[in-house]
Amino acid sequence: MPNQSLEPHEQVVVLFSGGQDSTTCLYWAKERFEAVTALFIHYGQRHAVEADQAREIARQAEVLLVEQALDLSQLWATNSLTQSELPLEASPAGSLQPPATFVPGRNLLFLALAAILARRLNAQHIVGGMSQSDYSGYPDCRRDFIEAAEQTLRLGFAFDFMIHTPLMLLDKAQTWLLADQLGCLDVVRDLSHTCYAGDRTTRHPWGYGCGVCDACRLRAKGWEVAFGAA
Ligand code: ZN
Repeated sequence: MPNQSLEPHEQVVVLFSGGQDSTTCLYWAKERFEAVTALFIHYGQRHAVEADQAREIARQAEVLLVEQALDLSQLWATNSLTQSELPLEASPAGSLQPPATFVPGRNLLFLALAAILARRLNAQHIVGGMSQSDYSGYPDCRRDFIEAAEQTLRLGFAFDFMIHTPLMLLDKAQTWLLADQLGCLDVVRDLSHTCYAGDRTTRHPWGYGCGVCDACRLRAKGWEVAFGAA
């Protein structure tokens, strides 16, 4: 919980979606910082389950959850994560286009929002689950972008922000192994939500999901590489 007596370097804001990556990041942050605040942004996700799972994980992790609604429906009108009639397929192999699930500008915007909250809490640190390993079709998940964003926030706020991306060089299997090391494997497996179809009824060794969407397949494949097939 935020505490006025803590120093900026002891406090952190985690960009938190309730998914596998950011849940692992939440526990990574808990191990390193005195006060962890999770920021969940409602940006028109297809499914309410993401927010439900985020609340449950924050409760179990005993961290403060800040939820902020952001209506950018007019700007993000053609993206498949926020528009339910669009298909969710990945880009064809070899395509130079980002996948249909790419939400342009999302991470830049989310990092700015995290910085606004962090500044108010007097927290120096921001954690995000960006990774350039598995889904390299997302330009705003790459390390050079994150470094540039950190510099931008420092200049724009005149505050010594540090952005941490503990998953940057990890693939999904390594992210599962990190959750295991952090002692949060059960929480990540059972409570984090990744499935693009919003399925929380079908149980697999790697958690709940439809099992066939791109997000489920990536999550399942990572689990199998990390711990073997069921
Ligand atoms: Zn799925």
